[in-house]
Amino acid sequence: MATLALVNGKIVTVDERFSVAAAAAIDGDRVTATGTSADILARAGPGTAVVDLRGRTVIPGLIDNHNHFVRAIEHVEVRLEGVRSRADALAALRRGAAALAPGQWLLTLGGWHEEQWTGDRRELTLAELDAVAGGRPAFIQAQYDHAVVNTAWLDAAGAPAGAARTGRIGGGLVALNRAASGFPPPADREAAVRAVMAWYNRLGLTTVFDPGGVGVTEASYATLEAMAARGELTLRVLTTLGDGAGGRGAAHAADLAGRIRRARPFDGGPWYDRIAVGEIYYAAFHWDHQASPPAPSAADIEAAGEILGAAAGAGWPVQTHSVTTSGLDLVFDAYERADRHRPIRPLRWSVTHAEGITAGHLERARRLGITVQLRSQGVIRAGRAAPAPLRLLRDSGLSWGLGTDGTRAAQVSPFVTLGWAVTGRSLGGERTLDEPLTREEALIAHTRSNAYLMFRENDLGSVRPGMLADLLVLDRDYLTVPAAEIGDITPLATMVGGRVVHGSLASLLPCQHGNPVE
Ligand SMILES: [Zn+2]
Repeated sequence: MATLALVNGKIVTVDERFSVAAAAAIDGDRVTATGTSADILARAGPGTAVVDLRGRTVIPGLIDNHNHFVRAIEHVEVRLEGVRSRADALAALRRGAAALAPGQWLLTLGGWHEEQWTGDRRELTLAELDAVAGGRPAFIQAQYDHAVVNTAWLDAAGAPAGAARTGRIGGGLVALNRAASGFPPPADREAAVRAVMAWYNRLGLTTVFDPGGVGVTEASYATLEAMAARGELTLRVLTTLGDGAGGRGAAHAADLAGRIRRARPFDGGPWYDRIAVGEIYYAAFHWDHQASPPAPSAADIEAAGEILGAAAGAGWPVQTHSVTTSGLDLVFDAYERADRHRPIRPLRWSVTHAEGITAGHLERARRLGITVQLRSQGVIRAGRAAPAPLRLLRDSGLSWGLGTDGTRAAQVSPFVTLGWAVTGRSLGGERTLDEPLTREEALIAHTRSNAYLMFRENDLGSVRPGMLADLLVLDRDYLTVPAAEIGDITPLATMVGGRVVHGSLASLLPCQHGNPVE
């Protein structure tokens, strides 16, 4: 007997045939059947809650294959995700500042850029932030491009050279992350985790892969791990063994290789698990990661190879941050050397971002069984970076999926990513993809494909018997709504493991058992 029956809907299962069913049965945390409403009602008993979907569309919970979730819990932020005008941004900051607890700073740490606005796209100014911040120090960061601060921030934090006059602070990932590390942390870290999970669940995210990153250490994950152990997560979080310090040198390589050999992947559970080494494991090897990098030396390449050899030997998946064609050349060379040590195909090693990937790389990737995590590069603005190579990957035969690279470099809404992939247009309306995907391709890339990249293809990514019941009931039909509206789709209910974590099924007018409303 099912605990829950969803009937009279349009359930886009994202199974191998992309089949659509009218109904699904859920028992506890798993889907037990899909089929016609009559099929599913036949499984209903006295203890079954029956929900009439009244034609609404259901899709699998969305999975972000590259989302720096843990950064979002380091500070309480007012976000400018998806805001479409200067006036709306200033209004959001004013509202956000007024709602902050006493002593909290007004912080926005990326995820947006002025170029996503229509109309006036000039950078925010010190005077504007003075006007909206209510006397609080304000630090409003646009992606990793620049930040604008106000007078109270300059008084509290001290002005970097040149900032006193303009309130503008220059960009760069390292400099802006270093600045953020000095801001006040949330008073209650668990409350911060709950708030960010609620935000993600509201957007339709049910699983994220958190790739660590510069400044992120194992201690950053302690709160999440403790909450997972108590069954308090509403978002599945998969993470990495990485290199938070951005280390370099033979001693660093030996240390990390030792940690890799001593640890085991996949020793967590369905809510929290460490599944890969990455995305940064040897600073100099990810040389397109920095603004003006020196190319890695022969010693650097050898040291990175030691880390990769340890990962192959100990059976660890590896995800490598790599963006440019020349950076990818080095990574494929190193992967081929590790593969001679021990075949890496079963470990699904991957390249992450990979905007500079070429047909030559794809051939090497096929031989090694390499997978690719793409990000919605170009969703916020056209920018100078290469667009995501969606069509190249789609036609490659490789396993690849879609993610965001939120929360600082990018926005985190999966529906905004899907809308961008289907229309090829940024939030501000510029064309940033020459050859967009079909809706079906984009949805597969944000669900089932990402489940495979995370070794969760038997649990996540589609609505079919045996899978965990992670799904979304949508306010609009993803498959038929005008393409320009895909980014605005909102889940009426988000379910993770059979439990409603956002919205409510009751709001969908549950019918009496055995008497569904047609
Ligand atoms: Zn990265």
